[in-house]
Amino acid sequence: CYILAVETSCDETSVAVVKNGTEVLSNLIASQIETHKAFGGVVPEVASRKHVENITIMLEEAIEQADIAPEKLSAIAVTEGPGLVGALLVGIMAAKSLAFALDKPLIGTHHIAGHIYANRLEGEFRYPALALVVSGGHTELVLMEREGSFKLLGRTRDDAVGEAYDKVARALGFPYPGGPHVDKLAMESRTCEDMPRAWLEPDSYDFSFSGLKSAVLNAVNQHRMKGEEGYEAGIARGFQESVIEVVVEKAVRAVKACGAVQLLLCGGVAANRGLRQALTERCEKEQIPLTIPPHRYCTDNAAMIGAAAYLKYKQGSYSGLELKAEASMSLEAWAAR
Ligand code: ATP
Ligand code: MG
Ligand code: FE
Repeated sequence: CYILAVETSCDETSVAVVKNGTEVLSNLIASQIETHKAFGGVVPEVASRKHVENITIMLEEAIEQADIAPEKLSAIAVTEGPGLVGALLVGIMAAKSLAFALDKPLIGTHHIAGHIYANRLEGEFRYPALALVVSGGHTELVLMEREGSFKLLGRTRDDAVGEAYDKVARALGFPYPGGPHVDKLAMESRTCEDMPRAWLEPDSYDFSFSGLKSAVLNAVNQHRMKGEEGYEAGIARGFQESVIEVVVEKAVRAVKACGAVQLLLCGGVAANRGLRQALTERCEKEQIPLTIPPHRYCTDNAAMIGAAAYLKYKQGSYSGLELKAEASMSLEAWAAR
């Protein structure tokens, strides 16, 4: 089975060819970071236009790199949501046209299922599995009791982790996207400023990062008012430690409570060095098998979409040409379709 996958939910245009849901034959990613940097964040209209500029040539290139005849493709997969509607639409239109022209099935795919399935490119899933999703727009604990079943145990009540990273980075003077800059500064820091932890109710698997973000902004202002310098690293470290402690603790608690036999870390923030290290150490101590995708499959890419689409391919669950972009769409609803 050869799936051609398209991902345009945000500011990365990506096209991949994935064999049997596990083997990446090609995975092209055109990042628009340089374009959006000037605005300090992703501008939806600009993102759509850039996707349009890139998509056709990338489709050709991905097929060529995979070294496969287009007629040999088994299906065309595309991210249908969640994401920016205008951006999603570009990928969906391209995927529909190709599916129609080649007379191949179309598979609408959930973006977060994709992030989770980035781990499938590393090896088999063992169930029940628990996914810790930490991305630019999502922070979730998802229980997978068996193949194709997704149960949302908890989610952020306000900011997503990646969003908090980007806002903190901006306050510390870094360009968009700020996550990697804060990560680097935190890892190099010799000081650590005390920051609050939002545990919420004792039994809750939900998250909250807006209080932490406000604490960071307050601390920055205090230092500035006093005319101090060089405080950034201590703040970055304090922020990162708070985030890591809470997500690691909640994930481990959920693994134990659900009897999960595998923990899957995913989403853009899974690229965070501090988090990878802390989660790896904790899982070793607790003897929890942990999978973390390599960096290139943590942030948005089409290979992960091809991996998740294989689930629907095996079920013969295809989408019609009336497939629509869904700005917000639950994993459960996608899985049940
Ligand atoms: P979603 O997947 O929820 O729709 P998205 O696709 O925009 O959101 P991703 O591409 O999964 O998000 O991740 C991007 C986010 O990851 C950004 O917020 C970025 O700052 C963050 N990020 C990337 N690398 C790191 C890092 N090393 N440390 C912390 N955050 C990081
Ligand atoms: Mg992105
Ligand atoms: Fe994403």
